[in-house]
Amino acid sequence: MNDAFERRRTLTLKRGKERVIANRHPWIFAGAIHSERGPEDAAIGDLVDSDGKRLACGFYSRSSQIRLRALMFGEEDITRELIATRIAEAIARRRFIFDDTTNAARIINAEGDELSGLVVDRYNGLLVVEIANRGVEQLKPLIVHALHVATAVLSGRGAAEGSGTHTIWFKNDLPVRALEQLPTENEPVEATTIVESGLHFRIDPGEGQKTGFFLDQRENRRLARTLAGGKRVLNLFSYTGAFGVYAAAGGAAAVTNVDVSARAIELARENHALNERQAEFVVADAFQYVRQKRERFEFIVCDPPAFAKSRSDVDRAARGYKDINLHAMKLVEPGGMLMTFSCSGHMSLDLFQKVIFAAALDAGRRVSFVRRLTAAPDHPVSMYCPEGEYLKGFLLEVR
Ligand code: SAH
Repeated sequence: MNDAFERRRTLTLKRGKERVIANRHPWIFAGAIHSERGPEDAAIGDLVDSDGKRLACGFYSRSSQIRLRALMFGEEDITRELIATRIAEAIARRRFIFDDTTNAARIINAEGDELSGLVVDRYNGLLVVEIANRGVEQLKPLIVHALHVATAVLSGRGAAEGSGTHTIWFKNDLPVRALEQLPTENEPVEATTIVESGLHFRIDPGEGQKTGFFLDQRENRRLARTLAGGKRVLNLFSYTGAFGVYAAAGGAAAVTNVDVSARAIELARENHALNERQAEFVVADAFQYVRQKRERFEFIVCDPPAFAKSRSDVDRAARGYKDINLHAMKLVEPGGMLMTFSCSGHMSLDLFQKVIFAAALDAGRRVSFVRRLTAAPDHPVSMYCPEGEYLKGFLLEVR
């Protein structure tokens, strides 16, 4: 392990590619590399210019188009201490999120915490770790140790009954791990229960979407709770019903959760029961549901999965977003609200706004933006890696 920082790969930048470095983007692609030398299985790589001067260093992967995930630029070196410090800082930065009413949050957000390739979510006493890179995978012992040390500060802030110790579980079934030629089998893991904003949710990271919960929507769920009072609420693409539980807790007159996955709806039922809240649960395709529904709602949440998985998908995705939003708008009682999202990284805020504009026109409704919505602050985005900003949304008033 110690020598992981000694056995290094050296990558020489192609002439004319200096801009890559000037912009400090952490992803150094294979196309910018002139040649490589040193051990192929090195965890750490150094990017040098044609004179051998170091320009950047970071996590190396020979299997990825992103050959180097830079952590440092210039002459500065990457060390065990640096990585441990970045992990500790990322966790310390989130202390304000954890209190008696919330014990789940993303504690490491890859580039947003200057740790490209590493994501860690905390669910009460469980840490779910996603490693998307060969170099990071080789540093597992260091990461585990640093996580144990750094999360000890969270004890008494909802850690497993004050013990301060966390179980660490690796979510290995990320599709990108196959490309990186890393194991994709998950070890078994027990489901757990978290508290978020005083509400309780069952989390099963072994079978759930993402790492088990959409932590990025925390603040938008809180907003939904404050808006839901007395309203009939429709929660489209409900997954495990998180927006529905918040809306019910906010005093909604009625809540309907719709998801195409029977398992998600089953968990949504469990989560409502856990919080002693009533709701209606519908297993259905949301596109069909909004077309067939006659009764209107005063507040609709629309949080579909990413329709654009790649850049070439964007046009098709835009049609999907327009379609669902057009029909959702028609279902809003005049004067009601629509909270609508896109979590496609390839869909820009600008394009999403155009799609909403087109939907409003076709719905024949008067629509105004009340607020622009984004991911919660435990999902920081690096200024140098805007690709990290995927979640965008609008709170709309529909007259
Ligand atoms: N709003 C949720 C997260 C939604 S994730 C939360 O805050 O937790 C997207 C969900 O959309 C998934 O649960 C998926 O099962 C569901 N889904 C995908 N396609 C669908 C469709 N055509 N109709 C209804 N639900 C769909």
